[in-house]
Amino acid sequence: MASKAEKKKKPEKVPEKILILGGTREASILAGELVAAGHDVSTSLAGRTKEPEPIAGKLRIGGFGGAEKLAAFLTREGFTRMIDATHPFAEKISANAIEAAAIANIPLDIRLRKPWRKIPGDQWIEVMSLEEARDILPTGARALLALGSQHINVFASRDDVHFVVRMVDKPEEPLTLPRHDVIMMKPGDVASEKALFASHRLTHIVSRNSGGKGAQAKLAAARELGLPVVMIQRPILDKAE
Ligand code: NAP
Repeated sequence: MASKAEKKKKPEKVPEKILILGGTREASILAGELVAAGHDVSTSLAGRTKEPEPIAGKLRIGGFGGAEKLAAFLTREGFTRMIDATHPFAEKISANAIEAAAIANIPLDIRLRKPWRKIPGDQWIEVMSLEEARDILPTGARALLALGSQHINVFASRDDVHFVVRMVDKPEEPLTLPRHDVIMMKPGDVASEKALFASHRLTHIVSRNSGGKGAQAKLAAARELGLPVVMIQRPILDKAE
């Protein structure tokens, strides 16, 4: 007969073979937790960042070639679970993940960041697209574009606005913005964001509502300085809401 201690013992979780669709800080943290819990974890990156930070478990880099090929990869490699921990604006891969999990018949966990919520003191101008953000900036504005490099050229027609572009990797092509400064740095804490906004005499911050802690300081800095934030809302069907 089982002893009292044995009866109390929680059932051990069976180790799983998990594919994390990553590319976010949260995905890397999750990989560490799942590896520590004894699972066989692989993280998949699209390959956009030149030097990704080390991630626990195995790493694969590059697109799969669509949902069917992702499904074939899952089956061939014997994955028992997939987790979508991609950026909330990475729409294509999230749609592919849903389709592939259905084809491969494995569970899919969706772990996207929750969007930021406006709090008292925030002056958000909420828009639905990059184009709307571009058009809403007033003449003479000095705007921080807190956006990925692939989204910057949308603003090129605004020769009446001075842009400050913050980047982590050097752009492969020169930016087509008529008037701009490029700063090569990661987002900092509230104090350093405030100092940056003041030194560039910014009047507006342009951001997508990505959520997460990493890039949140700019919102607090804008609130404290009374700067408006042109906030681009998420794609239509947001599963993290
Ligand atoms: P996307 O538009 O949803 O995906 C475009 C294609 O890139 C996908 O169809 C897929 O190619 C490939 N891909 C995307 N994520 C992948 C992944 N994790 N592993 C393998 N292939 C992937 O994605 P995106 O907006 O370009 O974002 C790419 C990656 O950067 C994502 O992993 C995302 O988490 C990260 N990221 C994105 C943003 C953003 O603003 N969008 C910001 C920070 C980080 P195939 O169809 O060939 O499989």
